[in-house]
Amino acid sequence: MTEVTKKFSMSTRREFIRQTVSATGVTAVAGNASAGISNNSRRWAREADVLVVGSGAAALSAAIAVVQAGGRVIVVEGAPTIGGTTAKSAGAYWIPNNQFMRAAGTTDPKMDAIRYMVRDGFPARYREDLPNLGIEANEFALIEAYYDNSAKVIESLEAAGAIRSVTAAVYDYFDHTDLNKAPRGRALVPLKPDGTWGRGSELVHQLKEWLADKPVKFLLKHRVTGIERNAKGEVIGLAASDPKGDTVLLRANKAVMFGTGGYSQNQQLLRCFQPGPIHGACSVPAAQGDFVKIGIEVGAMLGNMANAWRSQVILEQALQSPSVPMTLEIPPGDSMILVNKYGRRVVDEKRNYNVRGRAHFVFDETENEYPNDLLFMIYDQRTAELFAGDMLLPEPGTSADFVITAPTIATLGQAIQQRLDTLAARIGARTLDANFLTGLQQQISQFNRDAKAGKDSQFKRGLYPYDGDWHKNVDSVERTDTRWPHNPGPNFTMYPLSDNGPYHAIIVGAGMLDTNGGPIINARAQVLDTHGQPIPGLYGAGNCVASPVGQGYWGAGSTLGPALTFGTLAGRNAAAESLKQDL
Ligand SMILES: Cc1cc2nc3c(=O)[nH]c(=O)nc-3n(C[C@H](O)[C@H](O)[C@H](O)COP(=O)(O)OP(=O)(O)OC[C@H]3O[C@@H](n4cnc5c(N)ncnc54)[C@H](O)[C@@H]3O)c2cc1C
Repeated sequence: MTEVTKKFSMSTRREFIRQTVSATGVTAVAGNASAGISNNSRRWAREADVLVVGSGAAALSAAIAVVQAGGRVIVVEGAPTIGGTTAKSAGAYWIPNNQFMRAAGTTDPKMDAIRYMVRDGFPARYREDLPNLGIEANEFALIEAYYDNSAKVIESLEAAGAIRSVTAAVYDYFDHTDLNKAPRGRALVPLKPDGTWGRGSELVHQLKEWLADKPVKFLLKHRVTGIERNAKGEVIGLAASDPKGDTVLLRANKAVMFGTGGYSQNQQLLRCFQPGPIHGACSVPAAQGDFVKIGIEVGAMLGNMANAWRSQVILEQALQSPSVPMTLEIPPGDSMILVNKYGRRVVDEKRNYNVRGRAHFVFDETENEYPNDLLFMIYDQRTAELFAGDMLLPEPGTSADFVITAPTIATLGQAIQQRLDTLAARIGARTLDANFLTGLQQQISQFNRDAKAGKDSQFKRGLYPYDGDWHKNVDSVERTDTRWPHNPGPNFTMYPLSDNGPYHAIIVGAGMLDTNGGPIINARAQVLDTHGQPIPGLYGAGNCVASPVGQGYWGAGSTLGPALTFGTLAGRNAAAESLKQDL
């Protein structure tokens, strides 16, 4: 092959890959060493040792690690502001065997923690009798690396003054399995200078502050569109769209690290990979899954694509914007149930949002439909007032358009159907089952009997500590300024729905914080190709890569913990790479 035909076939191939990827969204796993190979006509607009893409927890922790290793960094961020979804978050990071546990004398031995993490993240594959507890060697290596490094990473960030943490002392999300030997104390949150708990905005503020006087350039409003490689297939830079829409090339002397978040705002990718309809997410609009396509173009292997950090969203909020302010972390109130189109409960309403988000994907093989696609949160006036302002319930004395109110249960059913009819142009025709009212009345009677007995005979609501912890202690509001009686127990997550109206309903659909699938990384945070080999000079962490957590959610902070940990490892390893030739 002559030099001319070689160049031609490479550019043709590259164009083909681009077209295939943009036409299908995802399925082409094209790309090999030839995709993105350079010629000598590139003009680099800027250069640094390491280019870090994104500016959430994963990217900022990587940038810090590069600086600590003496490297120069450019943080390339598509949005006009720094922080991504991290800045919207509650800011918790889940760290096994952390310094607060050790100080309190709580032991969290390595294999116990790993067993819990594998069982929670890979429930269908967990096997005591198999190597790596039944999961793949690389999946196990990531979890092992997480146990080995996460506490050290947080302590090193603290020692450097880049973050300040405090223990949140909440229960893990799978608190009651025998495999969880340390179910409380792994979640940490940022500590504000005034001694109170901070949220994600505080975490971003602390990381950003540390970087402020360091050799770091923040290139905002530059959305990265592709990876540049040299003739050896090594990653040597990026293409990005600048604020004018022009493409600029950025040179990475050593490596590139992606921390660009998931694909939860990309309808095409959601339709392609998720197990059922997704109505919204609390991620920022920039969660477009750019690294899925960019990774495919350079031959990355994808993983964990069908999973997500799941939750539920209020349908009518999501219809206004699929990037909702927050998801329904815990349905508020005790005289409250979630029912489907048959009027039946389908889930423990107080279980964690990640498992609750899955309840929507049940499929009815006879009717060929998702009977739980939409659920209806039904509650009485007591919960409306006693828990006003809790989670997404309107504050006292205020109303919200998404709340449907009626004087009786019978008329509430009619009002829900009317609301569904008004939404039909957007969500398609939805009809409550003809037996919805009968089903709901029977369901309320059963729930009320169970509430009085303190025992949920259907879904064990309130049986395990997590349910009560999150109902009462975490971000929850139970007012003292109303006429309504508080719940004397025995199960304070359940209280009988009143015999008298008014009653209220909110339409709820499957949602998520963000997805957590993408190119697979190894324990060094290097991106792997379809042969399991690292793509030289390419790193990733956070929601843009295949999460080590699998389908699970170990406890509060299971997304930010790995983002900070593998972001830091990515930064350290990227900074230690050799210099790459331009050609
Ligand atoms: C209300 C709420 C509460 C939450 N609470 C918690 C919690 O307490 N604990 C927890 O662990 N998780 C929590 N989460 C989830 C958590 O916020 C995310 O999982 C986490 O922030 C993801 O971090 P990241 O670094 O991977 O990505 P992000 O923080 O989303 O950052 C990605 C960045 O990449 C940028 N970007 C995207 N594409 C490109 C491109 N092509 N070029 C350049 N830049 C690009 C984006 O603009 C964004 O700034 C919460 C989320 C929400 C919304």
